[in-house]
Amino acid sequence: MWTLNRPGHTALATFRTCIGRVRNPDLRARLEGVAQAVADASVAFDAAAQRHALHEIAREAIVGGDVTTEEMEKVYTRRMAKKGAPGRDVYDDIIGSSPQGRCPLCAQRPVATLDHHLPKAHYPALAVAPLNLVPSCTDCNKAKLDAIPQSAADVALHPYYDDINGQQWLVAKVIETCPAAVRFRVVAPDIWDNVLVARVQNHFRTLGLAGLYASEAAEELVNVRHQLVEMHATGGMRTVRAELRMRAASCAAGRRNGWRTATYRAWADSDWFCDGGFAPEG
Ligand SMILES: [Zn+2]
Repeated sequence: MWTLNRPGHTALATFRTCIGRVRNPDLRARLEGVAQAVADASVAFDAAAQRHALHEIAREAIVGGDVTTEEMEKVYTRRMAKKGAPGRDVYDDIIGSSPQGRCPLCAQRPVATLDHHLPKAHYPALAVAPLNLVPSCTDCNKAKLDAIPQSAADVALHPYYDDINGQQWLVAKVIETCPAAVRFRVVAPDIWDNVLVARVQNHFRTLGLAGLYASEAAEELVNVRHQLVEMHATGGMRTVRAELRMRAASCAAGRRNGWRTATYRAWADSDWFCDGGFAPEG
């Protein structure tokens, strides 16, 4: 998971922008009446998220005692996410905030939507709160579903509040099959507490990252195999290993926990791989 800068838009300004064109006088009055409740919910979210304690946020079906969950969901879908909607500029700003347009949750697939970190179906006051909206690919968005955190260990990693890339945690191992495969897992650094270990493991499992990265690594091998075969023919396993180590170092400088970094490390560490395991015939 990548860490992102927090959006610059406040919940109150975003909500007011979204509801700016509501014509129905009753709905408009009720929405305007809960603006402060929406602002307060975002402040409470921010405070809890900084303590990684979003499981403490209470769920409420009626926002400010006056606006239903369904009405708040429509503020998001019709007045923020829809093309041409008054809140669409904020939506586009957040969508565009992830490097290379990639999903910060899997760090691989393209951003396609905004994920409600706490689902709007259960936390309607946060339906358009920018701090609760994270750029995401379709698969990660679907995999998270409407999960409600029950404990600190259940709280999903949040790109605006969690930074897990100070240490290496993504590790791969070569599987000596034909063709060669790579298996990924989380190896928690000593400085992580038990809650963070559980949260990262949950993130990895829920989003199916082991499978995604194994598939990417298999495709990478198809692309470098020819070069490795040539190097092995002229310089043997030492030349192959030196090349793989150099690539691992370069990848690590950019993405300490990228699947490429872990893959090149695993390949370089394996005598079997460096001595011809990369070839299609094993
Ligand atoms: Zn993703």
